[in-house]
Amino acid sequence: MAEDEARLRSAMVDAMRGLDARGLNRGTSGNVSVRMGDGILVTPSGVPPERLAPEAMVRIDAGGVVADGQLKPSSEWRMHWRLLERRPDAGAVVHCHSRHATILACAGRAIPAVHYMIGVAGSAGVPLAPYAVFGSEALADAVVDAMGATGRAALMANHGQVVIAPRLGQALLIAEEIEEQAAVYWGALAIGGARTLSEDQMAEVLERFGGYGQNRP
Ligand SMILES: [Zn+2]
Repeated sequence: MAEDEARLRSAMVDAMRGLDARGLNRGTSGNVSVRMGDGILVTPSGVPPERLAPEAMVRIDAGGVVADGQLKPSSEWRMHWRLLERRPDAGAVVHCHSRHATILACAGRAIPAVHYMIGVAGSAGVPLAPYAVFGSEALADAVVDAMGATGRAALMANHGQVVIAPRLGQALLIAEEIEEQAAVYWGALAIGGARTLSEDQMAEVLERFGGYGQNRP
């Protein structure tokens, strides 16, 4: 196995354990993927994070073909595949059912610009992709459409959240921030509603986030 592939596989194990440790996921519901050459690596279906090993990651080859002789891929592998196919700027996808993001997704609410840190999503809010049954092509399409050309995150109606980023570590951090933003918005709704930032105010934030990395608070 190439060194790069070995590194990606163990980073995926760390990411799944990280989601669990940060309380962003419970049980076997979350999944992550990374781009690898013309294909992707995605987490297997139904393996709890503590039992995941680097060898368990499932390779999906060019054209979205699941290579033989591996564990069954995550039921959401089509969504991971489609996001990495349509967004060349992305190298990794994180999907989880973090509590507050899921509460909003179940209430049919997108996250507006309640706090400037929503800018980590690459837009002035986190859109809500319409409901489609888990694991379906329709869900993959809905999420790709909701993120558009530059968005990095979406809520999935009656389901959870999904994030893309150039690298897996970044995707994990954004997923954690989206959960925080969802909790803040949920809390603001509970005390009478949020006072959102204007388009101009968010344009200024996004410009400052432009340098992504060192410029980011
Ligand atoms: Zn899910």
